[in-house]
Amino acid sequence: MDHHPPSRRDGPEPDPWTLRWSGYEPAEEGLREALCTVGNGYLATRGAAPEAAADGVHYPGTYLAGCYDRTGSVVGGRMFAHEDLVNCPNWLPVTFRRAGGEWFTGPPEQQELDLDLRRGVLTRRALCVDAGGRRTRLLQRRIASQARPHLAALETVLTPEDWSGPLEVRSALDGTVTNSGVPRYAGLTARHLTPLGQGTEPDGTLWLQTATGAGRRIALAARHRLHPAADASDGDTRPGLAGCTFRLDAAAGVPVTLDKTVAVHTSHDPATGDPLDAARQLAATAPDFTTLLDEHALRWEQLWRRCRIDADFPGLGPLHLSLFHLLQTCSEHSADLDVGIPARGLHGEAYRGHVFWDELFVLRLLDLRFPELARAALRYRHRRLDAARRAARAEGLRGASYPWQSAGDGQEQSARVHLNPLSGRWLPDHSHLQRHVGSAVAYNVWQYYQATGDRDFLAEAGTEILVETARYWASAAEYAPARQRWSIRGVLGPDEYHDAYPWADRPGLDDNAYTNVLASWVLARAADALDLLPARRRAELAERLALDAAEPDRWQEIGRHLHVPFHDGVISQFDGYERLAELDWDAYRRRHPDLRRLDRILEAEGDSANRYRVSKQADALMLWYLFSAREVRDLLRRLGHPAGHELMRRTASYYLPRTVHGSTLSSVVHAWVLTRCDRRSSWRHFRDALTADLHDAQGGTTREGVHLGAMAGAVDLLQRCYTGLELREDALWLDPRLPSALGSLTMDLRYRGHWGVRIAVDRKNVTVALDPDHQEPVTVHLRGTTARVGPGGSRTFAL
Ligand code: BGC
Repeated sequence: MDHHPPSRRDGPEPDPWTLRWSGYEPAEEGLREALCTVGNGYLATRGAAPEAAADGVHYPGTYLAGCYDRTGSVVGGRMFAHEDLVNCPNWLPVTFRRAGGEWFTGPPEQQELDLDLRRGVLTRRALCVDAGGRRTRLLQRRIASQARPHLAALETVLTPEDWSGPLEVRSALDGTVTNSGVPRYAGLTARHLTPLGQGTEPDGTLWLQTATGAGRRIALAARHRLHPAADASDGDTRPGLAGCTFRLDAAAGVPVTLDKTVAVHTSHDPATGDPLDAARQLAATAPDFTTLLDEHALRWEQLWRRCRIDADFPGLGPLHLSLFHLLQTCSEHSADLDVGIPARGLHGEAYRGHVFWDELFVLRLLDLRFPELARAALRYRHRRLDAARRAARAEGLRGASYPWQSAGDGQEQSARVHLNPLSGRWLPDHSHLQRHVGSAVAYNVWQYYQATGDRDFLAEAGTEILVETARYWASAAEYAPARQRWSIRGVLGPDEYHDAYPWADRPGLDDNAYTNVLASWVLARAADALDLLPARRRAELAERLALDAAEPDRWQEIGRHLHVPFHDGVISQFDGYERLAELDWDAYRRRHPDLRRLDRILEAEGDSANRYRVSKQADALMLWYLFSAREVRDLLRRLGHPAGHELMRRTASYYLPRTVHGSTLSSVVHAWVLTRCDRRSSWRHFRDALTADLHDAQGGTTREGVHLGAMAGAVDLLQRCYTGLELREDALWLDPRLPSALGSLTMDLRYRGHWGVRIAVDRKNVTVALDPDHQEPVTVHLRGTTARVGPGGSRTFAL
């Protein structure tokens, strides 16, 4: 797979397991680094060249899952506290020179990079030519071990092509790095690491210990093995940096190999005492590069088995790339770390590494592949339920309200001002009013339960989240006697372009349809979850949460009477939407080829997106993303709105031309919704979502981190949308609608304790087959037919 799209349009797809880049293009370096990140869920390192430093072109970032630091900065004239995912010490630095010459700092004369997605190895082949014209071949391979999460390794092979003589190879651990990967955040405090100590051992082992402002110690140790062997001399060791240099006589055509094996531990790691001791011990005892590589490749082989999706369309490269980056962010090694799913992976510093509602798009994939990772992400939320309770109380409300942006301790991390680079103005940021994030967490709890049947989780943690979210909505809703309806006021929907009425002097909108319908769903599900609990646990929870019998009745009452606005026969995004003006789309399209940041364009013109019927991303349509057409119909009927079959089609045709897809999530949702009414467009949106990062579709954002929601959401379109797979009422429901570009689809899922539920779909048949084991049969529904498929059995349904 070449990262450039055009070469692939016609002929057969190049190797879908390799992402290949040739040459060196400074403007593309940031994108390449993000896409060539290697990680294992514990740590991830961008694909920066080992000899590179942060210089505006390169950005060697290494991030540890959940390693945030809290600090303060003055922004737009105001002081605010913020938690940032810390750019941790750079373990990569390796360079060389002919003794007496200049150190190689790049770029090389020729370069080729291969990211092997199947085995998780980044390989670089380069030709370096020094000032004296001496040519040296460079081969580097790096991994972040999926078998041993605290280990990363870089192998460097240097082959002088046309010279012989004294060669020096330098290696370092650099803790002087700062968080400076996103130019827009230049005003924020960037230094998070304080050096605690560093050193070089006589055998060339380097060690380094730093601490974040919040006191987390981060320790690294690097073991070197050189072939042919050479002694290390103390190189460049000073506060925050440990370095050493190896000297040897090189001969033309004879390769010199340096294996650098790096161990990383922090004081927050489970089962770890002193992090520095742990890192030094691990580095000293780690196997050689070949063994590490073999173990690592085996783990990847197993991961790919569990992610099996065979689909006959020319997009397998981006499909593998999406899964690859997801599995490098969430893995068995992140599951015990009390970490959420950062919207931009562990691949860059966009959104300062925060966790948003994007897990809504990621967990659907994990529920059916790695439910233990979905559970871990829900546990992250459950541990922050008290912070969410405090947030609700601060608003004068009951229950719990999860923050729009979450990091270490679960406090709201959304910025209160943001910069419009087009106007240079700092503007108030009200995105924290997206209260729908709490319902997304509740929805994730329920879906996890549907996929796994894990009642213990529901009893231990899930129901509490549902109950507290229901309580929040019940206390946030206000009764409007004139309408005889309950209203939820002062919120934002997923479309962030509207954050206030143009005629109002306070931020927020009233009765965002998505928020209200989802709140109604939560109010019903909380009661269902309580009913599902063993009586003893239900009684315990009722005691702990001071829940009386009347409360669920009140949830039902409010849940049935929340206001859902309509206009022109479609769902209104929010109450009063019809009072907004139409934008002169033709004029704007003529003036601006790219309208994705229409909000910024309008603000720079002294205008505001709040005045117009324009959307950044799917909002009301999110309902048909989360629920089947039948479920939306039932939800709306419960709310007193007779919703016919045509409502979805009409609502989609209304909002789609008014949506600029300023978020990669928008394509996922539109692909999903349109599959029911316009399959060709659905496929186009699917392709857009699937390749959003590969093609850097949002114009320069991927360099700051991949978009995990779009990556996972796109894969899930194959997994659940085009197969019509739903998990409800303790059964699998299938209703395939393969787009014309897709002839067949086979996948192996985990479902309710089964590890091998194979679903194979083509134009004529659907087959569901189970591995033989000791589980209960699975109930499968397909268009009016119901079957029970037992272990070792299979059932084919004709379409
Ligand atoms: C989108 C949000 C999303 C966030 C993080 C924003 O651009 O509008 O929906 O949660 O990015 O990915």
